[in-house]
Amino acid sequence: HEFREWETQKVRTTCAYCGVGCQIDFSVKDGVIVDAKPANGPSNQGLLCVKGKFAYEFINHEDRLKYPMIRRNGKLERVSWEEALDFVAEKILKIKKEFGPDAIAGFSSARTVNEDSYLFQKFIRAAVGTNNVDHCARLCHSSTVAGLAATLGSGAMTNCIAEIKDADVIFITGSNTTETHPVMGMYVRQAHRMGKKIIVADPVRIPLAEIADIYLQINPGSSVALSNGMLHVIFEEGLEDKEYIEKYTEGIEELREIVKKYTPEKTAEICGVDKDLIIQAARLYASTHKSYIAYAMGITQHVNGTDNVSSLSNLALVTGNIGKKGSGVNPLRGQNNVQGACDMGALPTDYPAYQKVFNPEVQEKFEKAWGVKLSPNKGYTVTETIPAILEDKVKLLYIMGENPMVSDPDSNHVKHALEKAFVVVQDIFPNETTEYADVVLPSKAFAEKDGTFTNTERRVQRIRKAASVKGECKDDWWTIMEVMNRIGYPCHYDTVEDVFNEMRTVTPSYAGITYEKIEKEGVQWPCPTLEHPGTPILHVNGPGRGRGLLKALDWIPSPDTCNPEYPIVLTSCRILYHYHTRTQTDKTPGIHFTAPRNWIEIDPSDAKDLGIQGGDWVKVSSPRGSVYVEARIADTLRPGVAWMPFHYAGGANVLSDSEHLDPVSKIPGFKQIGVKIEKVDGK
Ligand code: SF4
Repeated sequence: HEFREWETQKVRTTCAYCGVGCQIDFSVKDGVIVDAKPANGPSNQGLLCVKGKFAYEFINHEDRLKYPMIRRNGKLERVSWEEALDFVAEKILKIKKEFGPDAIAGFSSARTVNEDSYLFQKFIRAAVGTNNVDHCARLCHSSTVAGLAATLGSGAMTNCIAEIKDADVIFITGSNTTETHPVMGMYVRQAHRMGKKIIVADPVRIPLAEIADIYLQINPGSSVALSNGMLHVIFEEGLEDKEYIEKYTEGIEELREIVKKYTPEKTAEICGVDKDLIIQAARLYASTHKSYIAYAMGITQHVNGTDNVSSLSNLALVTGNIGKKGSGVNPLRGQNNVQGACDMGALPTDYPAYQKVFNPEVQEKFEKAWGVKLSPNKGYTVTETIPAILEDKVKLLYIMGENPMVSDPDSNHVKHALEKAFVVVQDIFPNETTEYADVVLPSKAFAEKDGTFTNTERRVQRIRKAASVKGECKDDWWTIMEVMNRIGYPCHYDTVEDVFNEMRTVTPSYAGITYEKIEKEGVQWPCPTLEHPGTPILHVNGPGRGRGLLKALDWIPSPDTCNPEYPIVLTSCRILYHYHTRTQTDKTPGIHFTAPRNWIEIDPSDAKDLGIQGGDWVKVSSPRGSVYVEARIADTLRPGVAWMPFHYAGGANVLSDSEHLDPVSKIPGFKQIGVKIEKVDGK
């Protein structure tokens, strides 16, 4: 874009990609964003990664959805807003009357603003009458919410992002930080240069493994064993914080007992690493009260994801690494507003601020606030909704800003469900899911709207309208409000701030946050009163639940680890240049062309055994289906493990399993998919 600085208007907003929540100054000329510069926000301190700096061009892409459409004779046809909204409302009312409210389900979004998610869950709960509301946090960090809430009392990051530089020891496990949370990855490199110690545990030799003091190339799915093995050493050598354990925890005897059998030898065997490295990692982690655990989906996306998370809590609690600057258990949430969508109650068991739907007092509170009877029954999770459609229990699925055809496990299974249900999609681009939509409603992109995002460190920050609105696109909250009015739940909000202010009245952790208060800089929840400054570090005076729960956990092998027919463990991963299902990054040419198509990375010894060379085309199969991709040979893997980005349609999620789920959080095991790989001729 050609522009002169004086011709532009500056608009400060929050990056719409990962959960770091970097602050950006957009330069806007005639309603078009022409430049992006890093602002000095609390989480980014003047830094931006390639996505924040360059990946805004999708906003003006010609493919943007610009007007409502209804499918007629197999084709989506343009209609007026009135017609589309009336049609959606009529369908909802008809299905509710015939089959009851539980025959309707909604997927909210981890990408839209908090206000959209708040109103979406209110729409499903108060206007439709069911708790069948969830969103794709189910597929990334639901096990974090479950694991940390049970052990510490809050399912969120305990400390701040930039505090990673204050730590003496940084333990990164299951997070390819430089690719997925790049600005945080930059902080880890800075910390390394400052002489801080780094431990990395990951089946893939990620870039940060190169600067790690200790690198544990563990087998996929062995994290509980690693934590137990480290705890074994910590107890054996008396490195635990006895005072903290005595004062602030429960369950120590059971934990001590179970980790006795995780000797370094046994742990080394399960994890596939040298026993001395486990001993060194345990000593280093327990050597200070400033050990900072950062983890992501390498921990959570397993059929024992909740146990993986709880096992990290065990490590932090036993060593007193909680409630202090530069310490804690820090889940790096993937999408820009996945923390906020959870906080807002876009979950089938929780109203805003994790108030449980089956708690009668909570139910009464929300019935009074919203003026209707509410269901006390737990709703379907994302991973339960798809089977419920196939079993004829759910008839209508309303999707706001999600692309389950690519993001959800077992794409063929999802396809059958979307073909069967009446599907409403509210989004900014046509995507693999709109191909199955009966109604499509166009939304504004983040740079065209006002509102708030909550980043992974619980910081509520403003986003501001910078670009002019395309076609007939509307705010998501406006569309939801219009549907609510049409299905017999009258409501009116003039602005997005009106929605925020209503949300505050029922959300104790956000009660003291106002637009005025976060005008200059975001505030971290809990912030219970207007006078409260927000809470950078959780659990300062002991864990939020009273006593931290030490859970005695056994390592359980995944059911989808290899069998002779599917002998390779495929782990699905993320890359720097793409974001989620690429609906935005593949519409930004400079970003898209760095990684335009899917591939698989294979260990050299496996490639040799299979007769595969770099650049060959291979067929990758699991019991769910097959995909054809280019092979790359990578010495970052261990034999028997392969790696594929999850971003591409017809890729990793054709192979992943939707049947075996974590029993607590219902998250699938995306990181351990048993596959076979065969060389094929041509493409
Ligand atoms: Fe955006 Fe995350 Fe990059 Fe920051 S690190 S610019 S929030 S993608």
